[in-house]
Amino acid sequence: MRGVDLDVAALKTAPPVLCYHRIGGPLELGVTRVGRSVFARQMTELARAGWQTLSLAQFTPHAARRTFLLTFDDGYASLAEQAFPILADLGFTATTFLITDYVGKTNTWDVQYTWNRLQHLTWSQIEQWRARGFDFASHGATHRRLTWLDDAALATELRTSRATLTARLGAVAGRAIAYPFGAVDTRVLAQARAAGYELGFAGVKGNGDALQGSRVPVYSWDVGNVPIGLREDAIGVLGRVVAHAANRCAVGTSIMQRLRQRSGPLPESAADAGSTHA
Ligand SMILES: [Zn+2]
Repeated sequence: MRGVDLDVAALKTAPPVLCYHRIGGPLELGVTRVGRSVFARQMTELARAGWQTLSLAQFTPHAARRTFLLTFDDGYASLAEQAFPILADLGFTATTFLITDYVGKTNTWDVQYTWNRLQHLTWSQIEQWRARGFDFASHGATHRRLTWLDDAALATELRTSRATLTARLGAVAGRAIAYPFGAVDTRVLAQARAAGYELGFAGVKGNGDALQGSRVPVYSWDVGNVPIGLREDAIGVLGRVVAHAANRCAVGTSIMQRLRQRSGPLPESAADAGSTHA
């Protein structure tokens, strides 16, 4: 039953970190796409309520209330058209975790959820948005699940990705990593530290280690004005608990949809799912 003893208070991150994947673009069979208008409404509502985004450099435990780190995984090209301009208009920034071997290429690393393969951001788009104060960091070199790799392959993923980023964008781009699928264990942490990363983002439950920070995923059903991860009421806590049960920032489940229909207490089955986390 390890992992079931959820300490709800520990799931609250200060400051919170929101994790999005795709914004707008073609519909998909998966659950990681959030519509452009939903995203625009969420960000506008947050700005109106006084929330402000943090740059990676500003992301510290002592950051002011109502600040959050906004993150995107995978670095799809549609971010440059659908998300970044909305953020820039609001005075927001974001950190995008790039799959460094796929910059400027199409997605062949994922299950194909859409009719056409998706395009990733190019280096010139990345450099353009970086000049406007947006941060970029590592999501591995090829989006492999790091916990499944042997030591040599793990080191290659961590180091080549970081070397590519720092060569292209300078030393600050080598500070942070979001582990693909949120999958991390003590061996991955040790190697990430040895490779030179200072900040790491995994699943929903952090462990106090800067290299295992927590994030709250925003899935396609999260259509309210304020993303669940930033809500301080009961459903915000519920959302964090459920996200912990689902556990992977990149993999969705139908648990949340069922919960929203019930809007009752956390069912045993959802809590049990949390016990599988790495
Ligand atoms: Zn990913």
